[in-house]
Amino acid sequence: MTETALMPLPAGFGAPALEAHAISAWFGDRKVLDRVSLAMPARMVTALIGPSGCGKSTFLRILNRMHELVPSASLAGEVRLDGADIYDTGVKVTEARRRIGMVFQKPNPFPAMSIYDNVVAGLKLTGTRVSRSGRDLLVEESLTRAGLWKEVRDRLRQPGGALSGGQQQRLCIARSLAVRPEVLLMDEPCSALDPTSTRRIEETITELASEVTIVIVTHNMQQAARVSQQCAFFLAEQGTPGHIVEAGDTTQMFGAPVDPRTADYVNGRF
Ligand code: ADP
Ligand code: MG
Repeated sequence: MTETALMPLPAGFGAPALEAHAISAWFGDRKVLDRVSLAMPARMVTALIGPSGCGKSTFLRILNRMHELVPSASLAGEVRLDGADIYDTGVKVTEARRRIGMVFQKPNPFPAMSIYDNVVAGLKLTGTRVSRSGRDLLVEESLTRAGLWKEVRDRLRQPGGALSGGQQQRLCIARSLAVRPEVLLMDEPCSALDPTSTRRIEETITELASEVTIVIVTHNMQQAARVSQQCAFFLAEQGTPGHIVEAGDTTQMFGAPVDPRTADYVNGRF
């Protein structure tokens, strides 16, 4: 296997939905990722772990073409969704971002906008047309999938900003789901939440994974162990660009990590 080859998926995993091939990334002259390759299996949860600053968020943003929103940013490599490079000139960036959604650390609903309008906001951004009755159904479906419907069904016209932090994060998940993405990227989605809200989001992630491919960045090792089937450990040692030290089946990585640096990290030794 060459250094840039994809790490093989652990046994028992189906075809990858999303594949990153030899991704390198720069901000200006500064290289922050070095030839990161990872296959993310369809309808499973992949967790990205590693210390702050090792390029996990940058990698995630490359997976749905948000990296290119930073003027100084550049990259090399390929991202394939169902085999097709999302960076090909024929691919519309709005379509790539519709198919590959993103949820951030800090819940970011439009605070003054109603719960209902928050859910359908993505439709406008992606130019998706849905009839009025279709929108009602989509709002119910998306809020149900995000585990929020029962709590908000009687107050869909209230502003999104009136919800609790955990509810706001589930509203953001519903907003992402409304455009029917195939992949959902989640960048530390529970870091700003209390333990109860965190557990509820974890339950939602587990349920969603039967239909959507999920990639989640987390600093919480128990969370990675609870929700993911595959895990990738990123490291940027002494100012070198971030890279994957080890990736594989989550149970194996936590139980019997191959690299001593992975063992130190998953056991909280750095
Ligand atoms: P992580 O999510 O693992 O904490 P990041 O992907 O946020 O890491 O950051 C990786 C490196 O890239 C860090 O050194 C960070 O300072 C740098 N970086 C991230 N975003 C930008 C940006 N917009 N401009 C310049 N440097 C950035
Ligand atoms: Mg980050």
